[in-house]
Amino acid sequence: MAEQPEAGVQFGVFNETTEHERRVALTPDIVARLRKKGVGCLIEQGAGLAAQYTDADYERAGARVCDRQTVLATCDAFGFVSRPDATLVTAMRPGQWVIGMLGSFTDDAYIASLAQAGLTAVAIERLPRQLSAAQSMDEMTSQNSVMGYKAALVAANAYQAFLPMMTTAAGTIRPAKVLVLGAGIAGLQAIGTARRLGAVVTAYDVRPASKSEVESLGAKFLDLGLDFSAGQGQGGYARQLTKEEQAAQQAAVDEKAAQFDIVITTAKVPGRKPPMLLTAAGVKALHRGAVIVDCAASDLGGNVEGSVVGTQVTEGGVTIIGAPYLASDVSNTASNLLSRNVADVLSHFVRDGRLRTVAGDELDDALVVAGLEASETEESGKKGE
Ligand code: NAD
Repeated sequence: MAEQPEAGVQFGVFNETTEHERRVALTPDIVARLRKKGVGCLIEQGAGLAAQYTDADYERAGARVCDRQTVLATCDAFGFVSRPDATLVTAMRPGQWVIGMLGSFTDDAYIASLAQAGLTAVAIERLPRQLSAAQSMDEMTSQNSVMGYKAALVAANAYQAFLPMMTTAAGTIRPAKVLVLGAGIAGLQAIGTARRLGAVVTAYDVRPASKSEVESLGAKFLDLGLDFSAGQGQGGYARQLTKEEQAAQQAAVDEKAAQFDIVITTAKVPGRKPPMLLTAAGVKALHRGAVIVDCAASDLGGNVEGSVVGTQVTEGGVTIIGAPYLASDVSNTASNLLSRNVADVLSHFVRDGRLRTVAGDELDDALVVAGLEASETEESGKKGE
């Protein structure tokens, strides 16, 4: 396709390169929204297919569908579900913007590489979620909701028995007992979905505020007989437990988990390795046929000792599914939500038909980890460069 200079900000999206990734950072309805704001959209051929959007869908919405080189050469800013790999970063030119979940809490070297390439980097994971202006940009909330929903379905699918109670001529089948560990955005969706499937659900979280949320969904709150309330809930987040607290929590969870058929774990502390809640001893205590879905599983470890990404069955017949990518398995809904989040982040930085060069507000200070100059009136505490 012939290249022509475009007026206004040009926003580009590529095929995602991460393994398991089926989502796309731009959906056709958002193309139309952005166009109304004077932002033109370019999308690499085939980038929406795994999320059920064809190139023709994008063209109808007003996007240019082109090859990777044209997206790279034409755009002022790029949106990602996660982040560009090193090859793509090297192909970008100074002054271009990268918007995505950049891993800035745990990967300083990667953020430094973006800064070194002269890119402006916007790290959505740093969004101050409590700000009302940030609500529509909150990719953690949108994607965690999808993940929690899917976690309950995956668990139900792997479990070789019914979830609901059922009375038949051949007798009554008892409902499955589900334990959800970590009752944040994902956990609450997992609770709601497991309840709708007919399971009896119990949940636990370290934040005291979560008790009423769990109960409002018709689930029981698990009392571990331990009090970690001090310091919890600042900014809506849990704090990391001390070593002693972790050990006490693991012992209590290991003991209580043994009575459940399904355990779904979603516990995280931003910028930290996920807390291990269920040890190998706790897994061993579960009955044959029990299913664990660990949404926090990663290379760093997850909420369950020994869980890895993928499915394994223990000698005792417990299925452990390490599944951090579940939002991607609901690729259409997840993409629709996150595309709106990414577009709203982009729109925040567009002024008078251009991308801003100077930071101005609290959102800028939190989100921009490389490239944007600090305004003279604002502190820019979190800049990487
Ligand atoms: P998250 O994904 O970082 O963590 C998931 C859950 O794990 C959290 O509920 C956390 O308390 C829990 N957890 C951490 N360590 C634990 C441990 N050792 N044992 C048990 N549970 C543990 O967080 P999230 O789900 O994205 O959000 C957490 C909370 O943030 C929400 O429930 C909400 O209250 C708040 N929030 C506020 C806003 C807002 O103000 N607009 C938006 C989104 C979320």
